[in-house]
Amino acid sequence: MKGNIHSFESFGTKDGPGIRFVFFMQGCPLRCLYCHNPDTWNMNDKAYEMTAEEAFEGVSKVKNFIKSGGITVSGGEPLLQPDFVLELFKLCKADGLHTAIDTSGYILNEKVKSVLDLTDLVLLDIKHINPTKYESLTARPLEPTKYFMQYLSEMKKPVWLRYVLVPQFTDEEQDLHDWAKYVSLFPNVERVDILPFHQMGIHKWEQMGQDYKLADIQPPSNSDILKAENIFKSYG
Ligand code: SF4
Repeated sequence: MKGNIHSFESFGTKDGPGIRFVFFMQGCPLRCLYCHNPDTWNMNDKAYEMTAEEAFEGVSKVKNFIKSGGITVSGGEPLLQPDFVLELFKLCKADGLHTAIDTSGYILNEKVKSVLDLTDLVLLDIKHINPTKYESLTARPLEPTKYFMQYLSEMKKPVWLRYVLVPQFTDEEQDLHDWAKYVSLFPNVERVDILPFHQMGIHKWEQMGQDYKLADIQPPSNSDILKAENIFKSYG
């Protein structure tokens, strides 16, 4: 089973604990208006096609550097390719490496559940808490992600949540309260990160001839970020 891969990062520091080897997988079912990597959307636009064994060779070369960190499979949406990720994680586990998945939580099926059994940490994006706004933002419904979160909670799987703060789209005070209140129900959430929206992906939208609707949106100010942080903290 070959995986379609967009790119790699040998020494990632933002996608889980410690220094990590990060695979960015090709293909995503969502169409987030703020996506920084629209070039990962189409499964056929892969830069690499390789087996889990071939992919793991790259990991093995830097094993000494990542042994206190691990491996993260990100995207795109990595759980679109559960067979590949499962094989890769089996190899990681046989070598004692920590495994993480960075996902939108849109897909949950029996194969994905097998992957989650071998996953030490899930980095989950819950991109909005209001179902209508979630769908406007991502072109997909919110419900599958809530179901995914529920499943992770039942498994007692450690979760780090991420929330992209986008002025005019995800920063309304009531929505931030509702998001934090919902999240506070899950004791398996170990950490919440606010990711401030930025415009660094804009050139990719232009290159792809896609209509980028957020061209006029400014990144959130420090006080906007602080305000969101304080709302989240008020729910513990
Ligand atoms: S889930 Fe991630 S990769 Fe997919 S469209 Fe949204 S931001 Fe882009």
